[in-house]
Amino acid sequence: MNTFEQLADLEERLAATKKKLEHAALIGAYLQSLPSGEIALAARLLIGRVFSEGDPRILNVSGAAIERVVAQTIGTSELARVDGAVDFGDAVEKILRQAGHTRQGAPLTLDEVWHAYEELATLSGPGSRERKDARLRELFERASALEAKYIVKHLIREMRVGVNEGTLLDALARTTGIPGATIRRAYQFTGDVGKVAEAALVQGEQGLGHLEPTLGHPLKPMLAQSAVDIPDAFTQMPLGETALEYKLDGARVQIHKSGDAIRVFSRSLAELTYSLPEIVDEVRREIKARDAIVEGEVIALTPEGRPRPFQDIMRRIGRERDVAEMQREIPVKLYLFDCLYRDGELFIDRPNAARWQALTEVAGGIARVERRVPESVAEGQAFLKQAQDAGHEGVMAKLLASPYLPGERGKHWLKIKPIITLDLVIVAADWGYGRRTGWLSNVHLAARDSETNEWLEVGKTFKGFTDAEFKALTDRLLALKVKETRGTVWVKPQIVAEVAFNNVQTSPQYKSGVALRFARVVRLRDDKPPEETDTVETLKRLLGD
Ligand code: ATP
Repeated sequence: MNTFEQLADLEERLAATKKKLEHAALIGAYLQSLPSGEIALAARLLIGRVFSEGDPRILNVSGAAIERVVAQTIGTSELARVDGAVDFGDAVEKILRQAGHTRQGAPLTLDEVWHAYEELATLSGPGSRERKDARLRELFERASALEAKYIVKHLIREMRVGVNEGTLLDALARTTGIPGATIRRAYQFTGDVGKVAEAALVQGEQGLGHLEPTLGHPLKPMLAQSAVDIPDAFTQMPLGETALEYKLDGARVQIHKSGDAIRVFSRSLAELTYSLPEIVDEVRREIKARDAIVEGEVIALTPEGRPRPFQDIMRRIGRERDVAEMQREIPVKLYLFDCLYRDGELFIDRPNAARWQALTEVAGGIARVERRVPESVAEGQAFLKQAQDAGHEGVMAKLLASPYLPGERGKHWLKIKPIITLDLVIVAADWGYGRRTGWLSNVHLAARDSETNEWLEVGKTFKGFTDAEFKALTDRLLALKVKETRGTVWVKPQIVAEVAFNNVQTSPQYKSGVALRFARVVRLRDDKPPEETDTVETLKRLLGD
């Protein structure tokens, strides 16, 4: 078997068992057997990613394109319906088998498949549709039916692909004997399972040591758990040893300064440098260190200096055209809240209090978020009220003694927002009727099952969108279309929606076992990757609330 066929074979075996130890053993043995140049690719594909986190490339291959090319591959003009397929990849496998498809030419290597994906991501402009189809067809012709199933899953990021990051990192630890904590840390520094897998398997523990945070390479951001209110936060964190900060509702940024070279990264490690020139200038001018990594939130402001809605800052984020015009239309302001590095000294293992002190020293004239260490619950409550009166969404509680834990949603940071919302992924939408005829309106919302990595539906809603938003959403959904069944368009799970609701109930209809009551979309979260949305377990914890 060649390396891509082995991957497909492994995925099948993983799907056939739920036993964690078996998963770890199978993944470990496979990764170990690969040539070193293919380890990183395989590790990423196993967690359902073609490109590493922060890599802006996306695979623009639609479900319609795949159907077209599968039909060409088996020499038919229209594909027959298949019964019993659980998803699109499965359907393609069944269609190819029924048509007696066999591979032509040499079996594919991982490297070849990945290069084809890379080409598909870069082809654009006139004639690109034909060239993409031709490239895809080449892939399908050289693939077995089973391999084609996984190619389809990779291309459309099918609901159920491979394993989650935790399982993969665990497999690496078991296979190499390197402590799990060392492997996880390297992952948090790099945000790339591919790099970690390659370093661990090729160079061992020493290799992982080289994956230290470096200027210009964003670290995964530390995240927060939710507390219901201020008293709840102070049952989890001691008074006098906890700082409260305003929780600003903007875009999180991690800023790397190396002399005069400044780079700005988003929460999902994408580069924002070119869309925020005024922030770059301010950092270059103000920061009192040659080299530094600082973190903060960028918000949009009204002329009176009050925060503008989150949607406004999102129009600036990642935008690289007409930047000067947008600067005038939507002025932004940076508020810093953490310092991770300063002139050769890494601060992530230092306590929050020391990092705040370092930030105070380097921030120069740049604003820091409002912060206080309250001595009583009442003082904490007054601080929350002050934050809300100033137009902010709530407060963060941070344990003064806690280190910076990249990528972890732990108990050292809590967020207190008076309105609880969930971040969910849109997996389908129904065609509207009446006033909404012609638009996709009722969106199907899904949460991730963290065990199986499957997207499971938890509710539907058409509430929360204006007409203009329905129109724009319809276009976006159609571009992500995978298939259509009676009135419903199924899409790649890519658009994240923040959803408010009244409560969570058990549901016999949904496979997830839970359903949201009175769900409404608060906004779309284009700054959040689907992998980081709320899980079915989180919903289960909210049951009956
Ligand atoms: P949310 O959807 O509530 O913004 P999230 O999932 O993006 O949350 P969380 O870890 O749950 O991330 O909440 C922390 C987020 O709040 C940060 O990612 C950051 O964007 C924002 N934030 C605003 N003010 C602060 C602050 N003072 N300290 C840390 N994060 C802050």
